[in-house]
Amino acid sequence: MDHLQIIVDEIAEEMALAVERGKVADYIPNLAAVSPAHFGMAIVSVDGSVHVAGDAEQAFSVQSITKVFGLTMALGAVGDALWSRVGREPSGSAFNSIVQLETEKGIPRNPFINAGAIVVSDILLARYEPREAIAEFLRFMRALAGDDTIVIDDHVARGEEQTGFRNAALASYMRAFGNVRHPIEKTLGIYFHQCALAMNCRQLALAGRFLMCGGRNPETGRSVVSPQRARRILALMLTCGHYDGSGEFAYRVGLPGKSGVGGGILSIAPGIASIAVWSPGLNERGNSHLGTLALERLVQRTGWSVFEPVSPDSGRAGRKIGSHFVD
Ligand code: GLU
Repeated sequence: MDHLQIIVDEIAEEMALAVERGKVADYIPNLAAVSPAHFGMAIVSVDGSVHVAGDAEQAFSVQSITKVFGLTMALGAVGDALWSRVGREPSGSAFNSIVQLETEKGIPRNPFINAGAIVVSDILLARYEPREAIAEFLRFMRALAGDDTIVIDDHVARGEEQTGFRNAALASYMRAFGNVRHPIEKTLGIYFHQCALAMNCRQLALAGRFLMCGGRNPETGRSVVSPQRARRILALMLTCGHYDGSGEFAYRVGLPGKSGVGGGILSIAPGIASIAVWSPGLNERGNSHLGTLALERLVQRTGWSVFEPVSPDSGRAGRKIGSHFVD
């Protein structure tokens, strides 16, 4: 068995035995029913190899991880003009917080908090009709993952439509500032359907490949975004991808990552690997408790942190795995 598979298996074994598993999100009806016993992990390496363990083939609600892909699509549609409506600073606030919007005149701090992603959905509506935007988003995800079986879970989307009062408040408030420009039901319709995407760890790690490869999908060879845009999306993931837990995630894991309340995390080791983990129990900041721990273990054992010194000639991808001390 190869070295990386041994690491992935050992991490999955440790996570299966963990007693403290966090708390499953219960404010979205369909998520409350998911068992915290799950743990899955998938790593797609730059050479195309895939290593999986645990429940890596079981679909879960991708939720806020989709904000990375929604942003990618919206940047493709309107380019850097997007940044006149959304900031690029960590919020230091909860994922669904409204407080900063008042002093900052309806401009959300970044595209990865709910308010920011709602504006991104509104930007997509300027280009597409609502149904078309959702269909286009799904097509985009299927193409990135190379998998046409990926679907949006309508029950999850409807559940959020019925209970997403905070998101409705955020959208209404930003409409008052002119930063949501369409009827809020339409904008939120895109946002909720995007969040309700169902994928497993393997599919998610495959969808993240373009971010590990400087913006190019290594399977098709096609450019999804420019290398500069890929670097910038990764910078936002590192600084804003875990809400008010982003600093802690950078400290513990040291990789760009984006979490979702479904318990998934997509994390990228640039030039090395695209990694997806899933465990539904969340910590107090709304990020997967065991998912974070699993990524911390992976980085301790592989040295894949972006803060790891590398020799100029070997480059990041040239570094041997498994040669690091556990701290
Ligand atoms: N759909 C969720 C919400 O809007 C996304 C939050 C998350 O995944 O962190 O509340």
